[in-house]
Amino acid sequence: MLNIQYDQIQKLKVHAEKTYPEECCGLLVGKISGESKTLIDVKPTDNSWDQQTADQFMTINSSQWRSSSKASSFSIAPIVLLKAQKDARDRQLDIIGIYHSHPDHQAIPSEFDRAIAWQRYSYIIISVQQGKAGELKSWRLDDNHQFQLEEMLIV
Ligand SMILES: [Zn+2]
Repeated sequence: MLNIQYDQIQKLKVHAEKTYPEECCGLLVGKISGESKTLIDVKPTDNSWDQQTADQFMTINSSQWRSSSKASSFSIAPIVLLKAQKDARDRQLDIIGIYHSHPDHQAIPSEFDRAIAWQRYSYIIISVQQGKAGELKSWRLDDNHQFQLEEMLIV
């Protein structure tokens, strides 16, 4: 279960529309208690996907060719993630997930999304059709590393 505010949903959608036709991405900062997460802050980040990232990924998993285009991939730079982690801890918060958009695709995780996903995190995907943000869904991994829809409670 992910507790989210209406304003936070709007912020995610605005970011997704702004970067269209490229994918947007960012971090979800909040609190975890048991099975329930509460989103406190939406932290937009740059999409640092590029040829080098695509090449690096290919050396790890050569079965999946990745284009260098940000229209179909996203990446958050490790340094950005580390700094956000530290900032969150300083405020007694955690990074509870990652969001990104799917330009002209549904809000359903790709096989690539699944391959790079971490347990415990919530993965919000925003579908942007022809520049307009629509469907927004949250996903989390189950014990078999498969994505399951996560219930969102708008608070
Ligand atoms: Zn994706």
